[in-house]
Amino acid sequence: MKMILLEPVFKQMIWGGSRMRREYGYDIPGDNTGECWAISAHPQGDCTIVSGEYVGMTLGQLWESHREIFGNAEGDRFPLLTKIIDAQNDLSIQVHPDDSYAKEHENGSLGKMECWYILDCDEDATIIIGHHAKTRQELEDMIYGAKWKELIREIPVHKGDFFQINPGCVHAIKGGTLILETQQNSDITYRLYDYDRLQDGKKRPLHISQSLDVITVPFEECGAAKMPGMNFDSNSALSAQSPTKNAWFEHLITCEYYSVWKAELDGEETLCQDQKFMLGSVIEGGAVLDGCKLEKGDHFILPAGMGDVKLQGKATFIFSAMV
Ligand code: ZN
Repeated sequence: MKMILLEPVFKQMIWGGSRMRREYGYDIPGDNTGECWAISAHPQGDCTIVSGEYVGMTLGQLWESHREIFGNAEGDRFPLLTKIIDAQNDLSIQVHPDDSYAKEHENGSLGKMECWYILDCDEDATIIIGHHAKTRQELEDMIYGAKWKELIREIPVHKGDFFQINPGCVHAIKGGTLILETQQNSDITYRLYDYDRLQDGKKRPLHISQSLDVITVPFEECGAAKMPGMNFDSNSALSAQSPTKNAWFEHLITCEYYSVWKAELDGEETLCQDQKFMLGSVIEGGAVLDGCKLEKGDHFILPAGMGDVKLQGKATFIFSAMV
């Protein structure tokens, strides 16, 4: 089993920029490129495989036809999606449903749990996570009264911060922030407020009633929001295995859908790929993995059964795996 390299799919967005060209050398489609779907089998952006014996297939096709590569994981769709998001301007304030709401109201779609690793941001950058309404009535009053300033919980953000966003949690990425997002494979977003912006002369649709259905009241901190430098979680399968691994592997979170780790390679290390499969992204530097060269901005899958994977170089990775 060999590492599988993927070609990202790019999305133009009214809030997007051109930073991914400068930062990663991507051939982006325009100067409003907001999203790079880096590891995705979603029908709206199914990545093409660019290495090994499955070159030319999409990840969705590989998932359908070669489930052994994914440790015979079950499910009718690939479970995760890795994105890079370049927010030159503010994203709409939004919320996602959970699986049961999405299944009932969105044609059997999955809900969306997501997490953000802040790749870079402006010095005074902020993000929105949560709200200040204490009751559902108060939430409704503030939304219909357009009291956005009072409602929205805005917090400062720094390079290297990590945030978990559960379904029901109001959130928005603000301008000047570059993030790597690991999420459930879903595209269901309820837009609560879009700063009254126009796209092609029109406001993008809002989804107030769905938002009111799914927003958690009052706001509660999601999962284990962790800042860099915090300790490893001893529950992590990976960090528990070998003491040498702990030196460079940092467990960021495990929730019901995914685990996410940050890895800082400097020299030679061995990664034991004992998950069904792992998703990997090079966010800094470069490395050689199992004899294949990887550069900043490369995204790949480590298939089932790889066992010990040799890594060499100086690089920072974000890895994830399904739970
Ligand atoms: Zn979101």
